[in-house]
Amino acid sequence: METNNTQAVPKTLVEAVKVFSDPTVALTFMVALRWPDGVRCPHCQSTRVRFIATRSVWECREDHPCKRFSIKTGTIMEESPLSLDKWLIGMWLEANAKNSISSYEIARDLGITQKSAWFMQQRIRLAMQKGDFFKLSGEVEVDETFIGGRARNMHAGRRKAKGRGTVGKAVVMGLLERHGEVRTRVVDNTRRRSLQPLIREHVEPGAAVYTDALRSYAGLSPEYVHGVVDHAERYVDGNIHTNGLENFWALFKRCVKGTHVSVEPFHLFRYLDAECFRFNNRKLKDGARFAGVLQSVGGKRLTYKSLIGEGDTEDRAASDNGEASVVAHEHGPCN
Ligand SMILES: [Zn+2]
Repeated sequence: METNNTQAVPKTLVEAVKVFSDPTVALTFMVALRWPDGVRCPHCQSTRVRFIATRSVWECREDHPCKRFSIKTGTIMEESPLSLDKWLIGMWLEANAKNSISSYEIARDLGITQKSAWFMQQRIRLAMQKGDFFKLSGEVEVDETFIGGRARNMHAGRRKAKGRGTVGKAVVMGLLERHGEVRTRVVDNTRRRSLQPLIREHVEPGAAVYTDALRSYAGLSPEYVHGVVDHAERYVDGNIHTNGLENFWALFKRCVKGTHVSVEPFHLFRYLDAECFRFNNRKLKDGARFAGVLQSVGGKRLTYKSLIGEGDTEDRAASDNGEASVVAHEHGPCN
């Protein structure tokens, strides 16, 4: 198939829906993004491939098993029974919905089951997860917050460790480079040994690190220029404050409470990654943010089994809809 005839990235949701409703256009669009220099076999990287138009798949001419592959092979969409246009619109919605979007809304918008929508969204969030290639520098705000979780999903030891007033809540640490990006991690507790290694992992030595007066942050200097604002006294001391992160927490809590109602603690990092992606790309236009997600779909895989296997699995087996066939296909010889 021709890939040089590229479709411009749609500017609005309405345009995206219109453009991608044509399966050929959707495929051409995706191919141009995934293989800008021509289609390559995901198994051996060979460019000696033949397009089988009737099935919308390619066949590799090299000698190896599993010669056939589709646009979904080797991406978060692998083995998904959902059509490409549904995936593309799902990605558009997840990339651009200010307060995220619930799986119920996506299900209604795309005409799929809530379970399928939820699984799709978790895979899109995986694409939105960014590799942290560089350390943060300059002025970095560091703060931790508690996100309401459900106590029953937590290990008793973890519940106890969190202490009074925070039972059943997950602790999230955030690092924000001023005028730069935000990163978050779910941590076990607010102790020094949980927080400080993350600062050293993510922040360039010599950077200014601003925190509140929590004792766990003591000892960051002289490695860092540590500025402390005691929230018991004031929230801003000249340049020293964590207001940027406070704003991010407010956004995220709105997304959790308003849109998702509640988030299982063991999936919390996925929602955080998606929020970070939207925050870090907030200056982009919708179309560009959407293309950013699309360019990250390759080389990532999240199966329904591994997704539900992370926590309690009670009554969570895939049942009568899209996921059932997904799970069945995962044992295919070509995976
Ligand atoms: Zn090949």
